[in-house]
Amino acid sequence: MIEFEKALELIIENCRTMPEIELPIHECLGYICAEDLYAKLDMPPFDKSSMDGFAFKWAEERNEYINDGIIPAGKPSDEPLEEGHCIAIMTGAPLPFGADTVIPVEITEKEGENIIFTHPAKKCANVSYKAEDITKDSLILTKGSMIRTQDIALIVASGYSKVKVYSLPEIAILNTGSEIIEPGLPLDYGQIYNSNGTMLSVMAQNIGINAEYLGIAADDEKSLTTMLSIGLKNDILLISGGVSMGELDLVPKVLLSLGVKQIFHKVRIKPGKPVFFGKTDKCLVFGLPGNPLSNFVGFELFVKTAVRKMTGSEIVFPDFREVIISSQFKHRADRKNFYPATCNNDDGKIIVTPVISHGSADISSLSKANCFMIADLDKPVYTPGDKITFLEI
Ligand code: AMP
Ligand code: MG
Repeated sequence: MIEFEKALELIIENCRTMPEIELPIHECLGYICAEDLYAKLDMPPFDKSSMDGFAFKWAEERNEYINDGIIPAGKPSDEPLEEGHCIAIMTGAPLPFGADTVIPVEITEKEGENIIFTHPAKKCANVSYKAEDITKDSLILTKGSMIRTQDIALIVASGYSKVKVYSLPEIAILNTGSEIIEPGLPLDYGQIYNSNGTMLSVMAQNIGINAEYLGIAADDEKSLTTMLSIGLKNDILLISGGVSMGELDLVPKVLLSLGVKQIFHKVRIKPGKPVFFGKTDKCLVFGLPGNPLSNFVGFELFVKTAVRKMTGSEIVFPDFREVIISSQFKHRADRKNFYPATCNNDDGKIIVTPVISHGSADISSLSKANCFMIADLDKPVYTPGDKITFLEI
């Protein structure tokens, strides 16, 4: 059995980096940038009006200007504006040569050919200057950062229609257990539904990956050999069940017979202790213990770390943070204990409260949780106000 930190280290050491691909920006969401992106142009590319109003050259005391017509957005005027004149300008239209200020239309009135300002205009107001937002050649996104919804406009405005990103690993999911039945089918006594299959698929979707679902293998060597060998053709194979100590927990044995190199089996964590990690040249193999909470924890901690590393993310480790616990928490774990909890923000401080649970097979506690709190094996009692590590989910 190895410590949790060692397990993360071994996973990271054994990940290869996925190939770079070029994607159109609208397909890039959630991918990791494989290049530093520099702005190809200034933004705005010209001095422009930030209001619908009138452009003019500001002059002390003057509040009446001769109206020379209109500049629509996208149609720059090539005539310089004379002093004492103004021109109607739309938001986003280039400021005409000779003008330095825009007065919003709301504080003007028309009087014949002239525009009267009903309130004084502030010099240089309502102009967005060339490059005030983004300067040409400045770094807009670094290699290794995740492309988020809020980055898309910046990338496009800076002159890109495609971006180099790291491709995502192909993931296959295999559930094992002769008692496991697909959702929607009738259950006989002794059988349960395959909640792990759907849950793992959705967890993969959540990180942008459409995993291939391979189905359920029975707890026998023949069934496991056939299905595991199909799964090993992927970049990552996720297996649920069959990795514990029972006589019919045959997954590690069959994996080894198929040429998988074991990197670890068993980590000092709760839940999820019997987790298996191995690899072939192409495939990383995660054998997650069957109970759904163990599956969830295994994916959050180990699989996501591997995917982040493989896709070149600058952030690789899970985002553990120190927070405050609200109530007393006693645990007898001789392992690092990942406990379903709820967190809320109390005046800027994050406070966590453990969800009442009946142990690691308790699926309803997971549904009530929005984070895990992580109790250390050398601290059996936490009192309200103590610091504790947490991980948002
Ligand atoms: P195992 O790791 O195979 O010993 O399974 C541990 C527990 O998780 C057993 O109670 C199994 O019935 C349950 N389990 C295994 N696979 C699944 C699954 N795909 N969906 C829901 N529960 C499962
Ligand atoms: Mg089983």
